[in-house]
Amino acid sequence: MLTERPAVDHPEGFTALARLLGGRRAVVLTGAGCSTESGIPDYRGPDGRLRARLPMRYQEFMGERTARARYWSRSAVGWPRFSAARPNRAHHALAELEELGTVTGIITQNVDGLHQAAGSRRVVELHGSLAEVRCMQCRELEDRRALQRRLEATNPGLEARAGRIAPDGDVELPPRTHASFVVPTCVACEGVLKPDVVFFGENVPAARVEEAWRLFETADVLLVVGSSLSVFSGRRFVIRAQKVDRPVAILNRGPTRGDGAAEVKVDGAAGELLPRLVATLRSTPPDPARRFEESSPP
Ligand code: NAD
Repeated sequence: MLTERPAVDHPEGFTALARLLGGRRAVVLTGAGCSTESGIPDYRGPDGRLRARLPMRYQEFMGERTARARYWSRSAVGWPRFSAARPNRAHHALAELEELGTVTGIITQNVDGLHQAAGSRRVVELHGSLAEVRCMQCRELEDRRALQRRLEATNPGLEARAGRIAPDGDVELPPRTHASFVVPTCVACEGVLKPDVVFFGENVPAARVEEAWRLFETADVLLVVGSSLSVFSGRRFVIRAQKVDRPVAILNRGPTRGDGAAEVKVDGAAGELLPRLVATLRSTPPDPARRFEESSPP
């Protein structure tokens, strides 16, 4: 449960954010809003409401061949565009903040690999990565690029019917496209193939959550960037921060479910505000009265 407290908003929020982070170490929790400026849409947007299309659910994907045909046909067309996305100014600024020693690492809910592409070194991909595909029978991993070659060879001509790119790295296709789609299976055992990401209705693997908690413990501030915090697997870090009295700062366009727990809330675009934050922290001499202190374990 989150306890409400009044949040400080932009533009005073920006100054308060810079003051909060100066001379401190922050762990950053990122969400889809960090990648919208790279051309990958988010799920909710600034009004906080889920966009029309519901994301694929784990039970549906595993239980229905038609659901897998729908998923993989959209993904086959969306992948070339999704994988061509490049890090934006927000990703680069976060990598710089790690260089500066302000950021200890990133816990990301994104599955696009753009933090690593920008040069961030310590990244926990809470929900996995679309770059790999796992066989749900023999657990073997396949590179998504290799699967793409197989998908295109067995399903020629899909690209011509593509619509706009969607948040899961896929696109809208006319409904009848799925009926004739050849669903890929594992090359080793013909088991069901699933992208190596956590679907809605699926739990984050325990080892990955533990890795995220270890990273959480390296910092004395939690900074949330571009997440509505609607999903518990991300919101839990805000709940814990509040419980152990660790300040929370939120930089997001529009409201989030953690606003009431934030010491500082800045409403704005990550790609604009994070580079400004880098510039401000670079030009501010560290406060000698503020020492780094190791946090106690949970
Ligand atoms: P969300 O869509 O629920 O929330 C995104 C938030 O970011 C919104 O409040 C939105 O207004 C804000 N935002 C959008 N552009 C912004 C910008 N430029 N600067 C600052 N804020 C901005 O996303 P979520 O909280 O990450 O949760 C959705 C789930 O969907 C996650 O679990 C994630 O795994 C998955 N997802 C991933 C991607 C990706 O990998 N890029 C994309 C969509 C969804």
